[in-house]
Amino acid sequence: MTHQHHPELCDLHIHVGSSVAPHIMWSIAHQQGLRLPVKDYWEFVDMITINGNNVKSLDDYIRILHEWTERIQSSPAAIERSIYEIIGKEFRSSRVTQIEVRFNPMKRNLDGERDLDHIIHAAIRGLDRAQLEYGVKAGLIFCMAREFEPEINEIVVEKAIRYHDRGVVGIDVAGSESRTIELSDALPFYVSLFERAKAAGLGTTIHTGETTHTACAGMESVIKHLQPDRIGHGVQCHFSEDTMKRLVDSDTVLEICPTSNLHTRAVNSLDDFHTILGRLDEHGVRYTINTDGTYYCKTNLRREFQILQDAGIMTAERAEQVRLEAFKSSFIQD
Ligand SMILES: [Zn+2]
Repeated sequence: MTHQHHPELCDLHIHVGSSVAPHIMWSIAHQQGLRLPVKDYWEFVDMITINGNNVKSLDDYIRILHEWTERIQSSPAAIERSIYEIIGKEFRSSRVTQIEVRFNPMKRNLDGERDLDHIIHAAIRGLDRAQLEYGVKAGLIFCMAREFEPEINEIVVEKAIRYHDRGVVGIDVAGSESRTIELSDALPFYVSLFERAKAAGLGTTIHTGETTHTACAGMESVIKHLQPDRIGHGVQCHFSEDTMKRLVDSDTVLEICPTSNLHTRAVNSLDDFHTILGRLDEHGVRYTINTDGTYYCKTNLRREFQILQDAGIMTAERAEQVRLEAFKSSFIQD
């Protein structure tokens, strides 16, 4: 099959921090004159990607991104190029023709040293250039951080609302699930933020139920109170009939990222994925397949589907339904 005859794909869950090719990151770092802790390119690649045993949990995964990747991407020129390169690469490797790229603008302004609006405008330029060149549909999702004070996250949501007509299509919450905001006193504040975002026409998603920190209790709280359109990961739901039923009743769509979950050990094996996706299908839970971080996890969207089909987890027919589910659940409207 020639490349242009592969089916079009849609990636709804892909982070800027984990999806820019190492050689691009290397080039950006040098362009900005950043002093790196390594002088050798291959050592740099090892430093910013998952290799051998440097990632054993979601917290390890996040720490590595925070230490270098976010810093290198913290300038207008860097964020513009990062977003432009991600969209082009996913189109070329997997024929991704619709993509929602997510990042936290507050983690790209060097703690206020850079102006947030300059970072956001640059991100939009990268988005526009890629859409023009590749003819794809693309949008930005702004991530809040679990470790931020609520007032800082409020600014992220306000920026998403302000730039909604420029290509920001949704909001998200990301970060270590050991900070269980969905089960804490901070929840009402987030309920109001989600309501404001929805009223402004933004899509809503949140990383939860990826690890046992939030698990089913966290997911149920999220569905009941935050009522997001989609949930990032949510693989823990298969442990509870009630949680799966709530997902179905609320028509919440899961953003499943297989290779990422195997790296963070949120899911231990492909056999476990077989069980999980089997249970979701059995209960009628809607879900999509995504990459989370292409270069960090050394994958692309076509490969994610291939892994599941090669392991006998998904038939070609089911893969086609799941492929279409992503377009249906996208925040990007015509
Ligand atoms: Zn994610």
